[in-house]
Amino acid sequence: MLNKKKYLYLFSEGNRDMRDILGGKGANLAEMTNAGMPVPQGFTISTEACTQYYKDGRQINHEIMADIYEYIGKMEDITGKKFGNVANPLLVSVRSGARASMPGMMDTILNLGLNDEVVEGLAAKTGNPRFAYDSYRRFVQMFSDVVMELPKSEFEEIIDQMKAEKGVKMDTELDENDMKALVFKFKSLYKSHMGTDFPTDPRVQLIEAVKAVFRSWDNPRANVYRRMNEIPYEWGTAVNVQAMVFGNTGPNSGTGVAFTRNPATGEKALFGEYLINAQGEDVVAGIRTPSPIAHLQEQMPEVYAQFVDIANRLENHYKDMQDMEFTIEDGKLYMLQTRNGKRTAAAALKIAVDLVDEGMIDEKEAVLRVDPKQLDSLLHPQFDPEALKNAEVIGKGLAASPGAACGQVVFTAEDAKNAVESGEMKKVILVRLETSPEDIEGMAVAQGILTVRGGMTSHAAVVARGMGTCCVSGCGEIVVEYDKQQFTLGGVTYKRGDWISLNGSTGNIYGKALPTVDASISGDFGRFMSWADAARQLKVFTNADNPRDAKQAVEFGAEGIGLCRTEHMFFEADRIKAVREMIVAENVVDRKKALAKIMPYQQGDFEAMYKVLGERPMTIRYLDPPLHEFLPTKEEDIVELAADLGITVEHLHNVIDSLHEFNPMMGHRGCRLAVSYPEIAEMQTTAVINAAINVSRETGVKIVPHIMIPLVGEVKELKFVKDVVVATADKLIKAAGVDMKYEVGTMIEIPRAALTADEIAKEAEFFSFGTNDLTQMTFGFSRDDAGKFLNYYYDNKIYENDPFAHLDQNGVGKLVEMAVTLGRKTRPELGLGICGEHGGDPTSVEFCHKVGLDYVSCSPFRVPIARLAAAQAAIKAPRAMEK
Ligand code: ADP
Ligand code: MG
Ligand code: MG
Repeated sequence: MLNKKKYLYLFSEGNRDMRDILGGKGANLAEMTNAGMPVPQGFTISTEACTQYYKDGRQINHEIMADIYEYIGKMEDITGKKFGNVANPLLVSVRSGARASMPGMMDTILNLGLNDEVVEGLAAKTGNPRFAYDSYRRFVQMFSDVVMELPKSEFEEIIDQMKAEKGVKMDTELDENDMKALVFKFKSLYKSHMGTDFPTDPRVQLIEAVKAVFRSWDNPRANVYRRMNEIPYEWGTAVNVQAMVFGNTGPNSGTGVAFTRNPATGEKALFGEYLINAQGEDVVAGIRTPSPIAHLQEQMPEVYAQFVDIANRLENHYKDMQDMEFTIEDGKLYMLQTRNGKRTAAAALKIAVDLVDEGMIDEKEAVLRVDPKQLDSLLHPQFDPEALKNAEVIGKGLAASPGAACGQVVFTAEDAKNAVESGEMKKVILVRLETSPEDIEGMAVAQGILTVRGGMTSHAAVVARGMGTCCVSGCGEIVVEYDKQQFTLGGVTYKRGDWISLNGSTGNIYGKALPTVDASISGDFGRFMSWADAARQLKVFTNADNPRDAKQAVEFGAEGIGLCRTEHMFFEADRIKAVREMIVAENVVDRKKALAKIMPYQQGDFEAMYKVLGERPMTIRYLDPPLHEFLPTKEEDIVELAADLGITVEHLHNVIDSLHEFNPMMGHRGCRLAVSYPEIAEMQTTAVINAAINVSRETGVKIVPHIMIPLVGEVKELKFVKDVVVATADKLIKAAGVDMKYEVGTMIEIPRAALTADEIAKEAEFFSFGTNDLTQMTFGFSRDDAGKFLNYYYDNKIYENDPFAHLDQNGVGKLVEMAVTLGRKTRPELGLGICGEHGGDPTSVEFCHKVGLDYVSCSPFRVPIARLAAAQAAIKAPRAMEK
């Protein structure tokens, strides 16, 4: 037993750099302990013990079990109390804590170590039987809920019933005997569910609690949260066992949470809430409405001063806004947690910029402080100020998470999810008494969340801010009737499906749908983004196929268009007819006639795009989808179209039948269309080159068109289409007598193209990785059908997340890397970019930086996200100066 693996650490043995094994909470408890702050002592069971628990088939092995008992012994020595001892009992909390904070995902058990004898001892020792029994009933409830997974609601019903019988509102109004009665009832409820008595041995209680924390790492909510936040499953969670301190001993005690800066706005001022005579989660559970932290200054000036001092020290130490949890026991302050606080995007920006101005961090560090995904919420619409002026406010809650939301009312997370997924409703607002972790998926699809109970740090508020979703919490005037699917506010009843609007920045609630307007980038945002731009090495382009989107993207900082899809232009009402004529044409002559009608539209579109872009480049992709997509499917539309085109319905049916494909995504599409009908490529080239010549002449900007041939898998097919393009373009350029350069490149979206990239690069002047198709073709399943089975893959830990959202670096990424290397070998100056959805996904952007692409291209609203992600990638791992 030499070199026995160390699984357990006293708080005094750890520090902030040991997050990976101690989890965030454990590492920070250790750090605060080392800094001499008042932290109830205890120990951390490492994340490695959690991994071992799963390896051992969900068992705590003997070795680790023995360690736990040994460390309980150490805790007894440190505290001078004894586990299970009646005269001087040690009570502990069992707290989960993964590397990344996962709010509400794992539950905490307080007051562990109590049983019928110990509680009497505690009562006698403190002379406070009410407190002792309050702690006991809490413990029985939490243990039953968290460890045994008995329905929380049944316990709450018992409390509500008791309050009703006594005619009181708050649990602080329940007395010693009520608490005793609660314990009795809770234990009976436990027995009726479990068939066994509530465990009395503190050691059994402890081991069961530790197991429950380990187990909770794999519960469905945790898995959903991890997938949403890209937290790897194999990290595991640590468990903290900590001596209890009590905020529920009476009016001189309490518990609270506070931030060193305002997590909604970033304003530099202590921000938080506390409750007197309360324990643990009471503040966030929304059982009573807490007092703002500033009140504490009047209520307990000394404790407040000490807390302010600690808060300042912590912020200076971590050089970031801290989110702290504390408890006051009989006038003495204890720190129970600190961490870098979650914040809204606006607050994140303000704090990052302020910390630079305060000299705490440098600009690069500031750039790393904002989560790129968060920027999204800053870019989305706000209420139209005009509409807001005249809108009637029907109620007001807390401004828990900013933004404007407008949607139809639903009352359960499940309903929210179903209504949106089924398409029954486009936008929903989830109205709840309060939210809990199992609501997370429903919250994710909602435009906004409205709760009756709960403060700024309630579950709903914290989770909504994390998601960037608008939330108004704690609107106590609302009367919700779940059974009738309605709520009443300001004398008006709103039913499921009714429209309401929320302003998460003011807390205002409106009884109808309000129009919204776009957000603007300025102030802190502009300054911050300029730091990001200075740091990044990747260029950021956008995917846009109309001038409006292009303009929006340029405003968001796009440096060009990486993907202009031409087919979207085909669908517009004024030209779809010509497109259809082209499709039903039976010979080249007719087809060319139809194409000639489309050409001026295309040229006009490209001219408009070039005008918006100015000096910025644009890559235009030629027609890509299978032709049947342009034809109607409903019989009445077919009849109408046939008449329109002057052909028989039968003829049109024949055309539609002939275009039918068994596997359209792998059918007659992409460059295959241009191989069959070169005149399409000819027409598109004419439109592009003419547009470029015209706009160049008009504006004086030297335009270099980038023409991109899609779905290439073989160099000869690229060569075939390229020859058409070159012949057409050269003729036009010569005829115009201008000196215009252009480039012809391809998308790499078929695995064979990546595998033969060295050959393809002989013809292609640039590659753009079309990772949507490349992912679909590499995995062999389609993006549109994957939803049907991916959940099973997540549940079985086969895939951790959606490869269409986050680039599969091991598989698809290998193809990308291979194509980069092979392509550059043939043509060192080869242009390289990505234009799939992944171009706006931060982890995928980081990958693109690593493999040496020149740019990423993404949808307009993701441009700022990509800019920031690219900057962070460059700061974390700068790459050698490019060619
Ligand atoms: P979460 O991660 O959900 O915030 P915590 O482990 O932080 O869960 O526990 C929630 C709350 O329980 C803490 O904020 C604190 O109020 C209370 N708590 C936890 N451990 C103790 C303890 N040893 N003594 C007193 N209160 C505790
Ligand atoms: Mg919790
Ligand atoms: Mg906590």
